[in-house]
Amino acid sequence: MKFIYCPICGTKLQSRDSWDEGAVPYCPNDDTMFFDTPKPCIVVAIIKERDILLLKQNYTYENSKVLLSGYVGHGEKVEDAVHREVKEEAGLNIKDLKYLGSDCLESKEIVMLTFMAHYESGELKKSSEVDDVAWVSIKNALEEMNEDEIGKRVVRKVIRELDWQDVMEEKYE
Ligand SMILES: [Zn+2]
Repeated sequence: MKFIYCPICGTKLQSRDSWDEGAVPYCPNDDTMFFDTPKPCIVVAIIKERDILLLKQNYTYENSKVLLSGYVGHGEKVEDAVHREVKEEAGLNIKDLKYLGSDCLESKEIVMLTFMAHYESGELKKSSEVDDVAWVSIKNALEEMNEDEIGKRVVRKVIRELDWQDVMEEKYE
């Protein structure tokens, strides 16, 4: 979020020099600086044997499946957000959570924190926020995610992490 007006009192913000950040929007009434803040979002590739969990959310991509994702709550640890979102959107418990790095969606002011995890327990159960949720063979995952560029990068990392040579050969030659 880039602030133009003070979110507390509504005054138009001024610019004030901060030591190492340069010019930062500043409210003289509240004596507060409002740094640009991206929204943290988690993305997780959940693995079960040779399958990966993919969702269909028609409001994000009409013709593409995506990895499970969600926003980190206020005061919530990122790892806890991953477990919570997986439970809410798919009804599953996961284990062996591993951070795979970050990515950005600059147009939406989102910073994506990407993970992989293994299925632990639970019955797959679709939430009302989702149009479909299903296990997809890793061999078909990249094609089914044709529009989800960030998701595909995560899946390629998973393939490398798990050293699935046969899939690597098919997808990279
Ligand atoms: Zn103010």
